Amino acid sequence: MAKHKILPFFIPMEGCPQRCIYCDQYAIAGETASPSAAQIASALERFTPDAGAEVAFYGGSFTCLPRERQRYLLQAVQPALLEGRIGGIRISTRPDALDAELLNWLGGQGVRTVELGIQSFDADVLAKSARGYTPEIAEQACRLVSESGLRLGVQLMTGLPADDAFKDRQSVRGAAELGASLLRIYPTLVLRGTRLAEDYSRGAYRPQSLEEAIRCCAAMMIMAEAQKLNIIRIGINPTPEVEAALIAGPYHPAFGGLVKEAVKMAQIRDLLASYDSGRAAALLFPPAEQALIWGQKAAGLQALARDYPNLALIPDRHLRPGDLSLELEGQSTLSTLHAFCQRQIRGSRRPC
Ligand code: SF4
Repeated sequence: MAKHKILPFFIPMEGCPQRCIYCDQYAIAGETASPSAAQIASALERFTPDAGAEVAFYGGSFTCLPRERQRYLLQAVQPALLEGRIGGIRISTRPDALDAELLNWLGGQGVRTVELGIQSFDADVLAKSARGYTPEIAEQACRLVSESGLRLGVQLMTGLPADDAFKDRQSVRGAAELGASLLRIYPTLVLRGTRLAEDYSRGAYRPQSLEEAIRCCAAMMIMAEAQKLNIIRIGINPTPEVEAALIAGPYHPAFGGLVKEAVKMAQIRDLLASYDSGRAAALLFPPAEQALIWGQKAAGLQALARDYPNLALIPDRHLRPGDLSLELEGQSTLSTLHAFCQRQIRGSRRPC
């Protein structure tokens, strides 16, 4: 997952036409009020200049705000933008609140990236989650952003009502085909005070287990990697507020790491599929990915030691990120993450 430097400002649920069944931005963002222009300007004064960084307005539905309110927030960023202390602005919004004129205006204000909270491209999931738009509207919004020349980010969720892992993978595929270059994936959590919490308490909603969510997100990550779609976040940002509001669901403070470890382990096992574990061999990996292979609490390391007792694990600084190499009797077999993911997608037509 490539990192982009982002200076986030939260405008909790500002502009949202309704409160979505799972959403509590006050808990998610840990903020209860939007910043003033003075607070934004002051934070930017303290920010170390970085021409690649983007100021982001998250936590609400930016393009649902009255134009004057949008202008107020964007204006607060203009001095930093004009002085080159940041490279652009990023907004997140709903897919049913966009048109070409608005996108053109936003581009003129320095917006470079639009993240759409799509959540799913499946009609049933959207309807049962009361999102208030159809897949066609979501697709059209993606096309509008792509055609406007702004960078498209898509946010998807897993475990929504009527959702399943196959639909989630299809949503990743849809995002890639519609021109997204950034993807965020959030498993649905049951937070106190939401409609989902009521549904959960009367047995009408069952959240994903942690294992289900990891498996599902790993399959989505494989789909994204196969499509060269950059995932910038998997799992909610862990905060004391989220933990205090959490009732149920697949929460783990290092959720994204668990997903990446699952994908890496799948790649390793794929490379070792025809390896006779009785023979001495070595698995080479980029040094920066050692933690990924070792896994949390060394679970990956222990599993490999158990299943492949004659396999040495050796960091190799010549390997590129995502590469693995099996060294056996003088022969090297290379596995790249991208090729592995493409094979997985081609070989899997049924729901995971
Ligand atoms: S999910 Fe998005 S649109 Fe829905 S209430 Fe939360 S911030 Fe608003």
